[in-house]
Amino acid sequence: MVVVGAGMAGVQTAVALREQGFTGTVTLIGAEPHQPYDRPPLSKAVLLGTAEGSAFEVDFEALGIDLRLGCEALGVRPDARVLDTSAGPVPYDVLVLATGAEPIRLPGTEGVPGVHLLRTLDDAERLRPVLARQHDIVVVGAGWIGAEFATVAREAGCAVTVVEAADRPLAGALPPEVAAPMRAWYADAGAVLRTHARVERVEPGEPGEVVLDDGSRLPAGAVVVGIGARPATAWLAGSGIELGAHGEVLADDRLRTSAPDVYAVGDCASFPSGRYGERLLVHHWDNALQGPRTVAANIVGAAAGVAPAVYDPVPYFWSEQFGRFVQYAGHHTSADTILWRGDPAGPAWSVCWLRDHRLVALLAVGRPRDLAQGRRLIEAGTAMDPRLLADPARPLKAA
Ligand code: FAD
Repeated sequence: MVVVGAGMAGVQTAVALREQGFTGTVTLIGAEPHQPYDRPPLSKAVLLGTAEGSAFEVDFEALGIDLRLGCEALGVRPDARVLDTSAGPVPYDVLVLATGAEPIRLPGTEGVPGVHLLRTLDDAERLRPVLARQHDIVVVGAGWIGAEFATVAREAGCAVTVVEAADRPLAGALPPEVAAPMRAWYADAGAVLRTHARVERVEPGEPGEVVLDDGSRLPAGAVVVGIGARPATAWLAGSGIELGAHGEVLADDRLRTSAPDVYAVGDCASFPSGRYGERLLVHHWDNALQGPRTVAANIVGAAAGVAPAVYDPVPYFWSEQFGRFVQYAGHHTSADTILWRGDPAGPAWSVCWLRDHRLVALLAVGRPRDLAQGRRLIEAGTAMDPRLLADPARPLKAA
């Protein structure tokens, strides 16, 4: 068994294989030199300096997992069942691709001093002294990472301007009416949010400047780019393994790829969701926790002749921004009906998305109970009465 990528999905796959009774060799290969670590704390406690690191508490040696760090996978030859790496070829019987995602760079800013990304422990460690200097900071992108970074930078006492090309924060994830109340969160935290703002270039200097396409210039002691991530799969070119439009590995409902005995899981792969009737590419932590269990069950089960396990989760994620705990479960489209629970100007409210009277997704701000109850209803596909659902004083239940 060879697992490529020693992030959440790769580590969980190796651990799940052992938990599910796999006794053969397990090799876990990761490009980063660090002990495998968790990413969500990077934009929260690790950045603030209230946690030193976020290494997983996994005893790889005790589990008999051969962990090879600082080793980059360069290609796969499925016919020969060989993974080519920077340390030489590694033969496999079964291979799991878990190389995650990499942040999208702002065109023209590669190598410009003072421009940062936030994906790795090294990125977070580079950003900590930037926060300590309390410079003016320009954040590019008002998505999840941009909002979390802006939150921490304000807490650290930096002046923060967030520039966003769309007309609202979280434009890729939420419809206008749901994102609208979030605009005020920036102002309340003392961060400036400029929408319809495109960065033309970043000029280095002390401080540098961010030049927008309307000609305005923003002083920037540092620039942090959070404009999304794409699957880290360029190294699979020429392998014959089928990739999708975003470069993601196209897995099937058992998380198998188009190559025999090669699976893919976590941020690098999409899968067809029977529940939502479309292919999902999920870049969230819970998917990197749940997917590996299905992969391990299928690998162990295939050897024992057990019926295959299908992966069809209700996606879930959380974000901590501007003093709020934001959670989302499910998957919605613009055709679904939106229903509010509570006042979006207040500190705690939820939004439900309904399709044919069934809850398909829920966003909860400071209402973790709604999230827990809603997630169960989404999983069960229970028919709901919209009138009852809209009353925030009532628990979320079918009738
Ligand atoms: P990754 O974590 O990206 O791990 C993949 C690993 O593979 C990396 O270590 C990479 O170096 C390695 N790799 C890549 N290419 C190769 C190669 N060719 N050879 C060898 N190794 C390779 N999600 C939430 O739900 N809530 C949150 O609050 C949240 N906060 C986040 C904050 C930050 C700053 C970031 C970056 C992400 C956050 N996420 C959050 C998303 C979550 O962390 C990811 O969904 C999760 O890490 C995905 O795990 P993964 O193992 O698939 O990929």
